[in-house]
Amino acid sequence: MAGRYDARMDYRTAVCENTRTAWDVHAWRCRMKEETKGEGWKIKNRFLLYLWMLPQNLLGLLVLFIFRKKKTFVEPFNECRVYALESKFLSGASLGRYIYVNRILTRDEAEYREAVRHEYGHFRQGKLFGVFYLLAVGAPSVLNNLFARKNKKVSATYYQRYPEKWADRLGRVRR
Ligand SMILES: [Zn+2]
Repeated sequence: MAGRYDARMDYRTAVCENTRTAWDVHAWRCRMKEETKGEGWKIKNRFLLYLWMLPQNLLGLLVLFIFRKKKTFVEPFNECRVYALESKFLSGASLGRYIYVNRILTRDEAEYREAVRHEYGHFRQGKLFGVFYLLAVGAPSVLNNLFARKNKKVSATYYQRYPEKWADRLGRVRR
């Protein structure tokens, strides 16, 4: 919406510049509650959902631990939590309720939003596949990603393949 104050944008600037204070976090959370009212699917039993997606949730926690000094919590996004990571090889990932984006992406609103929506698409695939997510989505996605780094043809069609194209659709990303 034009002219609307975007608390998320403001907060990310503070995250990137490492200048956020406890008050920033509190004020931002209050505004976020208003802005995200009614957004996304409401899951009645979050605990059951966490169990259903347990393998990827545990892997997600492990990534958080590995990057404990190089990660910043950015924002809640529907049922997920978005973290910015400092990494040379990782651009984005979705493991259970944990979404990771490279910190560089947080500097550009459109790029950041697109990346989060794409990863949220993977989260929705995870809801569907549950404990089989890593096998059905994680493995082909990682393989495609590795091939895309070596092969230009694969790289050019990366988002037209399974499971990326579907994740884009579920996350409402238009490329
Ligand atoms: Zn993807």
